[in-house]
Amino acid sequence: MISRRQWLYGVGVMAGAAAQSSSGLAARSGESQETQHHPLDLADFVPTSMLQVHESRVERARFPLIDFHTHITASAKSEKGVALASDRRFLGTAEELLAVMDRKNIRAMVNLTGGYDQGLGDTVAKYDRAFPGRFYTLTEPCYERWKEPNYPQLQAQAIEQAHRQGARGLKILKTLGLYLRENTTSGQLVKIDDPRLDPMWDVCGQLNMPVAIHVSDPLAFFTPTDRFNERYEELNNHPDWSFYGRDFPSNAELLEARNRVFARHPKTQFVVLHVGNFAENLANVGENLDRFPNMTVDIAARIGELGRQPRTTRKFFEKYQDRILFGTDATPHADQYPQQVFNDQLYEIYYRFLETEDEYFDYAPAKIPPQGRWRIYGINLPETILRKVYFENAARQLNIVV
Ligand SMILES: [Zn+2]
Repeated sequence: MISRRQWLYGVGVMAGAAAQSSSGLAARSGESQETQHHPLDLADFVPTSMLQVHESRVERARFPLIDFHTHITASAKSEKGVALASDRRFLGTAEELLAVMDRKNIRAMVNLTGGYDQGLGDTVAKYDRAFPGRFYTLTEPCYERWKEPNYPQLQAQAIEQAHRQGARGLKILKTLGLYLRENTTSGQLVKIDDPRLDPMWDVCGQLNMPVAIHVSDPLAFFTPTDRFNERYEELNNHPDWSFYGRDFPSNAELLEARNRVFARHPKTQFVVLHVGNFAENLANVGENLDRFPNMTVDIAARIGELGRQPRTTRKFFEKYQDRILFGTDATPHADQYPQQVFNDQLYEIYYRFLETEDEYFDYAPAKIPPQGRWRIYGINLPETILRKVYFENAARQLNIVV
């Protein structure tokens, strides 16, 4: 087993080799040469691309859009990955969000993490009702009550109440499958297809509320954080994002449990976030879209994956153009996560990816690509597909009449 330190040194050797060949030139021209290698920490390696290709700037989306995946509010209290309070933290004011939205041609933002009870009511009042048509809020399960014996009925009723309060759908965080346990934060992990959640899925179908569901995580998060891991830096910076080992199920087990829920609740619409939570394998996502007519996907925080396989992605968009929603995961002031920070730059990258055929550009507004060291290529979607992905597909899910 090679230690992390040795690995970092290995990168240094590679960089040193490049330095040596140029100092070789210097030697031939008679200057003194340095023969020593210069170890370089991976974190300090910020190469500048010498490629000279066309660079587009897309300041506004070509058509008005709905960002189906944002987080404007969040739970004020959580423990071991489980949200445990109705109270919300408000991450950005409606006014500051609207300024960016108007500049970027964003008709509406869908705030997935609206919570429940009073917190949901506060959120709907502050955003949805104050600025009609610009914000839509989703509710979330009340895991505080998980241990109550009649939880299945209570949770179904909570969805009905949320619907009356103005929630437009239900959001499931990856809490389900990876954090929620029998005793809420301890004991065995609760399975995604646990029958105690069946009444909740059903009532969403009856009320025509889509379920925006995040299951599992990038495949690399389920493999060791070592020199073979393509997201080594990210996992090294956030060790708690690794689901390798301990009692975590595999990515495949999580997706299978999720699929059993889709099969069991055909009248409920599921928007499977982050490209069906398997952007690394679009063939698999396509198979599931073929299998489950009640499944759609969003592209939030996955243009890094989509843009590094632009030909496969373009075909995927052509084939499933009615079932892909625009989303970003945008979160106001999330400066430490550049792939999802709500700002002008983030949206311009998404527009450039979808609307141009630019090559080899950054997928996040950051010096070092935060989700793996690679760059992306635009897919230049035709206008009919753009209109669907930007607006029409989400409008249908949310029952927005234009
Ligand atoms: Zn999200």
